[in-house]
Amino acid sequence: MPEKSSMKKLNNKTVFITGGLSGIGKACAIAAASEGANIAIADRERGDNIKGMDDIKREQPNAIFIECNVAVYAEVEAAVHKVVNVFGSLDVALNNAGIGGAPGKISEMKPEAWLSVLGIDLTGVFYCMKQELIQMEHQKSGVIVNMSSVSGEAGYARSAHYVAAKHGLIGLTKTAALECATEGIRVNVICPGFIDTPLLTKLDLDNQPERKQLILSKHPMNRLGTSEEIACGFIFLACADSSFITGTALNIDGGYLAQ
Ligand code: NAP
Repeated sequence: MPEKSSMKKLNNKTVFITGGLSGIGKACAIAAASEGANIAIADRERGDNIKGMDDIKREQPNAIFIECNVAVYAEVEAAVHKVVNVFGSLDVALNNAGIGGAPGKISEMKPEAWLSVLGIDLTGVFYCMKQELIQMEHQKSGVIVNMSSVSGEAGYARSAHYVAAKHGLIGLTKTAALECATEGIRVNVICPGFIDTPLLTKLDLDNQPERKQLILSKHPMNRLGTSEEIACGFIFLACADSSFITGTALNIDGGYLAQ
């Protein structure tokens, strides 16, 4: 019977997660750590308040935190270099950092609001992928998973910036998958439905029962998803179980996009 550690799906792999201090990213970090991975979290500056790391370090004591705004290219470049300097390789990258942005019709949307969402949710992922692929092409191995949304495959009124960014991620994913298909690198994207995370808490749905019911009703399962359910999909795409899968969008959405 093989030892338990050898059965772990990401044993000794180095996993880099942007936006990993909160919500979906943190759940993916904990899941990857429990599968034996080294973990590097990149997230925005929080002063000394990086308490999300405590939960991750409980699972993987050598996990590291790198302060990084993904919308700033030099910070992304430095973050990926740090991962390789500390752990020696970059095996899996989860480009998950994102914001929802202030809602509003296109005719009312401020150009700054558009640029701020696109800068993080799309350009930030391009910056990350560029640096990750430089390293992975050098290694001739690696896996990238991007975090889109059901809003990457369907419109959502009053969120044009977010919808455009998340649609863009699917095209970016497919193109990277084609560019790297023979180089030992796989690139896929996850499209979650509405997931119960701090990002959703900001919508204050508990005080808006009608809006909450509208969101729930878009999911045939009539509930929000959990970060852990997204983490299960991430582990599948990150490990060898999905070795023949590249350029694919995995919907984890309670049936949202089946309609
Ligand atoms: P979350 O709890 O707010 O976590 C996102 C993390 O990313 C936060 O720690 C956030 O920091 C960080 N971040 C934001 N901008 C950043 C930047 N410029 N550089 C580095 N880190 C940054 O949100 P979540 O719900 O887990 O969302 C994670 C991803 O899933 C996002 O891409 C989101 O669009 C996507 N998604 C979420 C849902 C959902 O319903 N929750 C559905 C579909 C897709 P701050 O706290 O400082 O902002």
